[in-house]
Amino acid sequence: YAARVVSGTAIARQIHKEIQASVEQLVGQGNRRPHLAVILVGDDPASRVYVRNKTRAASLLGISSSALLRPAGVTQAELLDLIDQMNRDWRVSGLLVQLPLPGHINERAVCNAIAPEKDVDGFHIVNIGKLVLDQRTMVPATPAAVWEIIQRTGIETVGKNVLVVGRSKNVGMPIAMLLHSDRNHERPGGDATVTIAHRCTPREQLTHHCRLADIVIAAAGVPQLITADMVKEGAVVIDVGINRIQESGSGRIRLVGDVDFEGVRQKAGFITPVPGGVGPVTIAMVMKNTVTAARNALAH
Ligand code: ADP
Repeated sequence: YAARVVSGTAIARQIHKEIQASVEQLVGQGNRRPHLAVILVGDDPASRVYVRNKTRAASLLGISSSALLRPAGVTQAELLDLIDQMNRDWRVSGLLVQLPLPGHINERAVCNAIAPEKDVDGFHIVNIGKLVLDQRTMVPATPAAVWEIIQRTGIETVGKNVLVVGRSKNVGMPIAMLLHSDRNHERPGGDATVTIAHRCTPREQLTHHCRLADIVIAAAGVPQLITADMVKEGAVVIDVGINRIQESGSGRIRLVGDVDFEGVRQKAGFITPVPGGVGPVTIAMVMKNTVTAARNALAH
């Protein structure tokens, strides 16, 4: 078996074209360009890369953006005040705070401070509640990316067995929400039979559930977690992991997912690579949410 390698880069390019057209239509109708404001606290190198990728993608798509940098020692009160300013600023269509935040700041309080209609990450408690109730809302970008990859690749989900490995509130949980829910609801779901594995799942149970899965979505942050012996022949394997590992020889930092790509590609039907899989589509979905926020603001 030789899996089809699904290019997230190519899917992102297609979504970019749609977003560009949508932005130009908005602007052509006399509206301001959508604007994305990104708040970055501290100088974590990975977070800086994510923020740069988002502002760069925005500028390519005709979305204006600003990165608001605050030192790691910023107080929670100062951060909430900045969010409040952005919430009131009518020029800002979408607002996100890059996670993780330093330990002295309560991430939940920060996510809940963002105006739900500007919450392009979809982490506000009201937006999560709507997601769980299958209502139309801002879907978090990584789960939305997994959904888009599945839909645009033409993969059937109805009645299929899906294994989601990982239960984080930003990634695993919302992926499971999208895939198990009803396709006829306001926010359509995948109508799949979904199993969620997590750090308490014994290794042999993980293997057992994985072998039954038509679609495996790996979001555990563990390199080499999913290997060929665990995967059903012809299965769809979507790798959401982003792990930085140091190569033993050169000492260089390399990005790998949670899936043993070289092994699993010989058994799966479809596989997404890392990098170049879920990552670029995730960024595209933040941009799409920004345009949606801008459009929603017009309607009010
Ligand atoms: P992310 O934001 O990508 O979901 P987190 O580190 O927040 O990453 O979450 C990792 C998730 O993966 C957790 O829900 C954890 O329970 C799960 N996990 C960690 N190790 C394993 C493992 N060996 N098998 C299955 N799930 C795991």
